[in-house]
Amino acid sequence: MGRGRWLDWREREMKIVEAEHIFDDIPIKCPICGDRLTWQVEEWEEAEDGLWKVSDCGFKPSCVSEPDIDSDEWEDWSNVHYATPYIDWLPIEKPAREWVNKRYRFDLGGIDGRDEGKEEG
Ligand SMILES: [Zn+2]
Repeated sequence: MGRGRWLDWREREMKIVEAEHIFDDIPIKCPICGDRLTWQVEEWEEAEDGLWKVSDCGFKPSCVSEPDIDSDEWEDWSNVHYATPYIDWLPIEKPAREWVNKRYRFDLGGIDGRDEGKEEG
């Protein structure tokens, strides 16, 4: 039986973080400009261990070089960065997701709509 596998993970160094935790330490650079990326989870799914992990298409990178969205530079920046997202961005989402799912689980607190009252006291 393969039951020991996930227990083994958990006993290692699974860290529980907030659902909206932003990751800035994933060792993957921006495929366009080589700058740092931050990653945010947009969708979670239940992991084998009953905790929450990043779902297959729920992990989105942002390049730290992104200018303010209201600025004039933003459109150029966006055209360059997202000219061919399936070629540039899709291939890095999977290794980034795996990197996180190997190390982290998420505390959804009520975000997923489970019946959970506000914490009291
Ligand atoms: Zn970039």
